Amino acid sequence: MIAIALVTAVTASWAFAARLDNYAYDFLFNRYPVTGAAHSVIVGIDQETLRTMGGQRQMRSILATALERVSMGEPRAVGIDLILADAGDPVEDARLERAMKGTHNLVLSSELDLRGGWEDPLPRFRSTAAALGHIHAEDLPLDGVSRMLPIEKKAQRQRRWALSVEVFRLARGGQPILESPDDIEVGGVRIPAPGASPDRPMRIRFLRSPIPTIPVAKLMSDPSAVLGLKDKAVFIGVTELTAARDRLTSPYGEAVPGVEIHAHAFETMAQQNFLTPVSNGVALATCILIALAAGFTFALRSGWAAYAIGVVLLLAAHSLPALFFKNGIVFPYSLTLSAAWLSVVSAATFQYFATRRELRQSESDRARYQQAIHFVTHEMRTPLTAIQGSSEMMGRYNLTEDKRKQMAQMIHSESKRLARMIQTFLDVERLSDGQMDIKRELFASREVIESCVERVQPLAERKQIQVFVDTLSDDGIVGDRELMEYAVYNLLTNAVKYSPGETEVHIGSGRDGEHLRVSVRDQGIGMDARELRNIFKKFYRTKRAEASGEAGTGIGLSIVEQIVIHHGGRMEVSSTPGKGSTFTIVVPGSTMAVPARVPASTR
Ligand code: ADP
Repeated sequence: MIAIALVTAVTASWAFAARLDNYAYDFLFNRYPVTGAAHSVIVGIDQETLRTMGGQRQMRSILATALERVSMGEPRAVGIDLILADAGDPVEDARLERAMKGTHNLVLSSELDLRGGWEDPLPRFRSTAAALGHIHAEDLPLDGVSRMLPIEKKAQRQRRWALSVEVFRLARGGQPILESPDDIEVGGVRIPAPGASPDRPMRIRFLRSPIPTIPVAKLMSDPSAVLGLKDKAVFIGVTELTAARDRLTSPYGEAVPGVEIHAHAFETMAQQNFLTPVSNGVALATCILIALAAGFTFALRSGWAAYAIGVVLLLAAHSLPALFFKNGIVFPYSLTLSAAWLSVVSAATFQYFATRRELRQSESDRARYQQAIHFVTHEMRTPLTAIQGSSEMMGRYNLTEDKRKQMAQMIHSESKRLARMIQTFLDVERLSDGQMDIKRELFASREVIESCVERVQPLAERKQIQVFVDTLSDDGIVGDRELMEYAVYNLLTNAVKYSPGETEVHIGSGRDGEHLRVSVRDQGIGMDARELRNIFKKFYRTKRAEASGEAGTGIGLSIVEQIVIHHGGRMEVSSTPGKGSTFTIVVPGSTMAVPARVPASTR
C-alpha cells in the first residue's frame, strides 16, 4: 500500500501540480526574501521622461541622451533593453550611433521574430556593441509570474545568451563563457543552468528591495546623478509600465517591466544567490523516506501515538521545502505534500482496517473456543455419568464377582473413551492451528475401513440400517492412522445418524489415478446446495438434521476436512435432499506393501 501511495504521489505531483508548486515557490520567496546592495542600476525611461522629452517617437534621442550621460558615470557595462532593428531619422540614428560608440561594454538586445529568426539591431548600432543579448523571458509562465530566465536562446543555428548574462560577462572582465552540462561559468562564477533543459533556465532570485532606478529625466536635470553609476552595471529600458512591452509579475506579486527582470537576473548572478532544483534522486529518496516513515509508524505503533507521529510527519513534510529553499534548493512542494499525505493516510487506513479485521478474527476465535468448550463438556458428560454410576454402585452394594468385573470393565473402557476423546479434541485443535505435525506412517486403508464398519455396527443395528462393504482397495495411505480412522468413522456415523431406519449405507474404496477414494453412501435425508456449501464449517448443522432429532454439534465434518487436508487430500460430497448423500475422502494413495499390523480390537 505504501508503494502504491508513493507511486501515486509522484505521478500526481509530476502531472498536475505545477500551479501548486509555483504557489508554494512564491510563498517561500516572500518568506525568505533576499536583500543586499544592488550591483546594478536601472536607467529608466519613465512617464516623466516620456512627458518631458517628446514621448515614444523620440525614443532614439532619449536613448542617445541617456547613453551620453551614462557613459560619464563610468559603469562597468551597459545593457539596452530596446529593439533597434528599424532605421529611424538619419540624424537621430547618427547621434545614437555616436553615443553608443562612446559607451564602454555595451550590450544591445536581440529578439526572435515571428519567423523564428533573430531580429538584431541595425548593423550601424550593432558594430558599436561589445555583445548582443536576447531579451526573452520564460516561455509561457502559467500565471504571468516571471520565475525563470532562459540563459540561452537558439535560432537558425545562432545562439544568443541572455542580455543580463552578457552584461554580467562584460562586467566581470569579458572572458568567454565556459559551458558544461550542468552549468555555465561566467567570469569565474558558476551559474547553475542545466543544459539538458531547453534554453538552460536559471531561476531569478528577485531582490526584495527595488533596484535603484534613475529616470533619464533625472539624469538630465541633475548631472550629479551619474555619480551613482560608477562601477555598476546599467540597464536602460522603459520602466513606464503602460509603455513597456513586456510586463510580468515578480514572485513578490509586483508588476515589473522587462528591464527590471534583466537587472534582477543580473543581481542573481552577481550575488550568486542561485536557486537550483532538487535532483530527481534526492527528491525520490526523500519521498521514499517519508513513505517508509509513515509505513513504519503505523506498523509499529497504534492509536494516538501513531496518529501523533503521523501529524509530526506531515508537519515535517510541509516544512521540508522551506528548509531546502533556505539552502537555495527548490523542492517541489506538491511532491512532499502528496507523498506525506497519501502515505500517512493510507498507512492509517490500512492499520484501521487491519485492526478491525484482527478484532473480528479474535472475536470469532473466542466464540469458537467457547463452543469448543461447550462441545467437550457436553460430550464428556455421558462417559462421566457412566463412570460415576458404576463406581457408586461398586462402593455401595455388595455385588457379585461377575457384576463387579463387568462394572470395572465398563469404567475402564469409558475412561479410555474419555481419554481418547480428549486426545482427539486436542489433536484437532492443534491441527487446525497448524501446530501439530501429523504422523507419517504407512497403513492399510482396508484395515481402517473394516475397523470403522465394525465400530458403527451397533449404532446401525439399532436403526436397522444395513452397512455394506463394497469393493475395497488394497492401497495404503501415508499419514496418521488414528486421525484417518476418526474421519472415516465420522462419515459412517453421520450416514447412520442422518438416515431413516431400514435403509442401506455403503462404504467402498478404489483407486483413481494417484488418489485413493473412500466413499460413504447413504439413503438418508440429504442436503441441498446451500447446505452443502456450509457443512464443513464448524458448528454448522442443517435444519433437516436438527429436525431429524439426532444429536450433534456440527463439529465433526470440520474436523474430518482438516484431517483430509492435512493428508494432502480433499473432500467431495454429492447429495439430493430426501434421497441420500455420498461423502468421499480423496487422498494420495500408496501401493507400497503395508507392514502387517495387530488389529486394534480395543479401539
Ligand atoms: P453433527 O453431525 O455433529 O451435527 P457434522 O459436522 O458431522 O456435525 O455434520 C454437520 C452437518 O452436516 C450435520 O449437522 C448435518 O446437517 C449434515 N450432514 C452430515 N452428514 C450428513 C449426511 N450423511 N446426510 C445428511 N446430512 C448430513
